[in-house]
Amino acid sequence: MGLSRLLYELQQIDLELQKGQEALDKFERQLGETEILIRVKTDLALAQNYLAEVETKQRDAEWEVEDLETKIGELKTKLYSGKIKNPKELLNLEHEVEALKKQLKEKEDRLLDLMGEVEVVRDRIRINSEKLKEVQEKWQKEQEILAQKRNETKEKLTQLAQKREMSAAQIDSSTLQLYEQVRLKKGQAVAKVEQGRCQGCRITLPVGGWQQVRVGMLVMCDNCGRILHLD
Ligand SMILES: [Zn+2]
Repeated sequence: MGLSRLLYELQQIDLELQKGQEALDKFERQLGETEILIRVKTDLALAQNYLAEVETKQRDAEWEVEDLETKIGELKTKLYSGKIKNPKELLNLEHEVEALKKQLKEKEDRLLDLMGEVEVVRDRIRINSEKLKEVQEKWQKEQEILAQKRNETKEKLTQLAQKREMSAAQIDSSTLQLYEQVRLKKGQAVAKVEQGRCQGCRITLPVGGWQQVRVGMLVMCDNCGRILHLD
């Protein structure tokens, strides 16, 4: 087999390797938690934290209400016990009860608001949990497919690497070095010759050069520097 054909075949393997590596990188990037999954999880965690906060406030409010009710009860017992005879003292006591009742009303309103808020947050958590379950199931399936594709691609890359090794073993080291140098500069080191033109840069080759390629000599395009190959 001519040297340019060996190089051309090596290039085909390298292109496949490159494509495989790009696919592998893509799969690796897609593996792991997706943006939507992270967002739904975060939303749920935030709602749960907020619920804990509002529930604490609700409990505090309940205690405050209870406390005021007890105080009012005690004052009323005192007021109607008949033990206090001084009218001024009785009036003061009545005022105190009224003031506490006013406070109680405010606390009760606040408690109602908090209870309403707790319900709203619980609803939000329920919706978020359902959403998370849905997103997670879909994500799980996608991850399984991606992992499978990644493994297949890895396997293919291993095979290609072996194929490349065998292919490169047929080429002498200085030619290989030349191939790598041109490849580094041009991306693809070998260009086909079709209808007398270098397919790397589309320029028409001088007749002499073309004939050298035809007889199997290793010729480089004067214009783009790629190694020429005639099928
Ligand atoms: Zn060229």
